[in-house]
Amino acid sequence: MRTVAFHTLGCKVNAYETEAMWQLFKKAGYERVEFEEEADVYLINTCTVTNTGDKKSRQVIRRAIRRNPDAVIAVTGCYAQTSPAEVAAIPGVDIVVGTQGRDKLIEYVEKFIHERQPINAVANIMKQREFEELDVPAFADRTRASLKIQEGCNNFCTFCIIPWAKGLSRSRKPENVLAQARQLVDAGYKEIVLTGIHTGGYGDDFENYKLADLLWDLDKIEGLKRIRISSIEASQIDERIIEVLNASEKMCRHLHIPLQAGDDAVLKRMRRKYTTAEFREKILELHEAMPQVAITTDVIVGFPGETDEQFERGYRFIEELQMYQLHVFPYSKRTGTPAARMPDQVPEEVKHERVRRLIELSNRLTVDYAQKFVGDVLEVIPERPFKEDPTSGLYMGYADNYLQVAFPATEDMVGKVCRVRIDRVEGEYCHGTFVRVVDDVPRPARAV
Ligand code: SF4
Repeated sequence: MRTVAFHTLGCKVNAYETEAMWQLFKKAGYERVEFEEEADVYLINTCTVTNTGDKKSRQVIRRAIRRNPDAVIAVTGCYAQTSPAEVAAIPGVDIVVGTQGRDKLIEYVEKFIHERQPINAVANIMKQREFEELDVPAFADRTRASLKIQEGCNNFCTFCIIPWAKGLSRSRKPENVLAQARQLVDAGYKEIVLTGIHTGGYGDDFENYKLADLLWDLDKIEGLKRIRISSIEASQIDERIIEVLNASEKMCRHLHIPLQAGDDAVLKRMRRKYTTAEFREKILELHEAMPQVAITTDVIVGFPGETDEQFERGYRFIEELQMYQLHVFPYSKRTGTPAARMPDQVPEEVKHERVRRLIELSNRLTVDYAQKFVGDVLEVIPERPFKEDPTSGLYMGYADNYLQVAFPATEDMVGKVCRVRIDRVEGEYCHGTFVRVVDDVPRPARAV
């Protein structure tokens, strides 16, 4: 039996796609081994979000080549898409596929084994209008299943290379999304996380079917308990989305809405599609439609030209909005993007100090939000033993509002919806008392 090993760099979408590519190899009879072991085929799913992403991708590729110089080395993903010649020039790389056409991977591997001729299968991603159908029927995480519904982005923010790596926005056909969702529910998953590069843009390439329509159709799936959207832009939250968030019992009280900067001048330079006033209005509308909704966000600090004053304004804006958690990134130059050529790049030490301040704010906001739930009973799906205190007999799971809750549980409760009373907040975790299991459907099998 031939063996294959994977290495994924970058984001959650890449992680999802690696799992989908593993399904192709599995069907072709391959055995999966660890990347550190000797394999017949190494597949590296690369990232190019920052210049460091490129460098790391090259290091990993070289590592695989050194491990087994006779192996087939296949490179895919965003770095392969944006710099195919650079990747193909690394001695030992055999197959380069970008972010499309990965359904033909096995064919390429077979062809290479027979002909021993390098294959460059990277096509112009900007011409791609169809969603690449790749399914993942089971995940290593037994409680939440990701379901990719969308690819690419039309926004061209000035700091981001993604549209060049993933192409323009394209949506997965509703019937395929729903069929895959039903399959995941039949396999025992209670929660589906809708993912994509620009998930909220789902349906922008369809005539009469938008994200709100998909959410309503998913809402009708029996046995599905929770629907989570991995990320949505403020500009994409329209009346119909607000309506479904308000009326569907299955929509999680948690939304990830990237802010990136809390100052209008910086937002404009980033070419984001909203002002702080518009963003604030959306958040207020959401709180009305979905009381106590947890809002997480991404923030980039040290964007070219960001002054101390602009940063402070952003800091106060985030504080005022009472976000639940911030994912903070220091601005990192990405060659080929307009921001990389902007004047007034911010010194690294200033960026680090701003990152530190926002992480501190995020920790405070997380505790403030969680405190509001002390004494309440929440529905939590336990997913793993509480690693932070392995001998405690506690398990950790997420409530629908994304609170991380540790409580006494047993292995057979993993994947089941449990009622838990929140007793206290300790750092990023809430500690609770188990009340009862609300459903008793068998949990999904662990992915292999
Ligand atoms: S919205 Fe902006 S940051 Fe997000 S993927 Fe599109 S271009 Fe990149």
